[in-house]
Amino acid sequence: MAFFRRERKSESSDVTGVDQTPQLSLEQMRLAMNALPMGVVIVSKDGQSRWTNSAVEDLLAQGSVDVERFNKHVDALAAVALGGESREEHVEFGDPAVRMFEMVSAPLTDGGGAVIVYDETKQVMTDRVRTDFVANISHELRTPIGAVSLMAENLMAATEDTDVARMASVIFTEVTRLNDTVGDLLELARIEFDGLANTQEVDLVKVVEEATGRLRSAALAKSVMISIENYPQVMIMADRAQLVSAISNLLDNAIKFSPNGSIVKISIEVLDDQVKIVVSDNGPGIRGEHLTRIFERFYRVDDARSRSTGGTGLGLAIVRHISLLHGGDVSAESTLGEGSRFTLTLPLRQIGNMGESED
Ligand code: ADP
Repeated sequence: MAFFRRERKSESSDVTGVDQTPQLSLEQMRLAMNALPMGVVIVSKDGQSRWTNSAVEDLLAQGSVDVERFNKHVDALAAVALGGESREEHVEFGDPAVRMFEMVSAPLTDGGGAVIVYDETKQVMTDRVRTDFVANISHELRTPIGAVSLMAENLMAATEDTDVARMASVIFTEVTRLNDTVGDLLELARIEFDGLANTQEVDLVKVVEEATGRLRSAALAKSVMISIENYPQVMIMADRAQLVSAISNLLDNAIKFSPNGSIVKISIEVLDDQVKIVVSDNGPGIRGEHLTRIFERFYRVDDARSRSTGGTGLGLAIVRHISLLHGGDVSAESTLGEGSRFTLTLPLRQIGNMGESED
């Protein structure tokens, strides 16, 4: 991808400073350009002449591309390159989209410019099929899981045999865990598939209140108090349901890993162009080497402990995915034996290119 951007000066001269770059003929250059899998359009300094490699024709020949619109994007990016700037654009063709390109402008050192076109169709389609598959299979699993869960519950209530009751209880616990995992997988697939389809102006305080409400009974069960420390009124552009889910996941972990009777704190901090939602607890903490990995899918610091707390290993992956979709980030700090602090950072005014918030 960085094909035009990197100048590898060190390889072009030896220790004596003599230029070792092989001199390529114009014909060799042309052949090399035509052998590239990505489309390349080179524009002269004055913007008057243009050369395209054969991959551009191949990309267009595969159909479903509105050539006029394609050329408009090339023109716009060529102008950007001639202005000395680099820019990336993702361009889709068809409704629903069937061809996807990443188009990159690159200024050339002679004052001209280049536009490079990568065909992303296969990659995007593969990702979609994968996401679709996870969503479908998760959905299909829910019904039998529900039935097994119900049967196990009925069996526990109906039997007088303690062995049978114990086995039914194990089935119930495991099937509940399976249900949670399938639920989280489904949620992750939905977020990947829908992206930020439901973006709107959202009152962050209400989001925090909704997330806190969801976790009230879990907190009560452990006599954990959820304390909302800082409560500034702030509106952001976001997918409300996703934010509730992200904050609920952080609170859920904080409660799960907190000792009974402790306090979990949540606060909203507004900075110039960002808002931070901070969730902290007095749990066991997380060792430094795990801190960067806990956001990976199915990564658990202590498998046995996590199993006993009923975790799926997907909660923080969901939080990270949501934060990145919103153009933000999530990070963790922790001191062993003292507790952990998770910070969800979101941009305040504009999120990606979703539109603008009203002031
Ligand atoms: P899980 O469902 O297992 O909680 P998560 O993705 O939410 O999965 O978290 C991944 C792992 O990170 C957990 O298994 C746990 O080891 C660690 N972790 C997350 N939050 C906390 C916390 N507040 N305190 C201590 N460990 C945590």
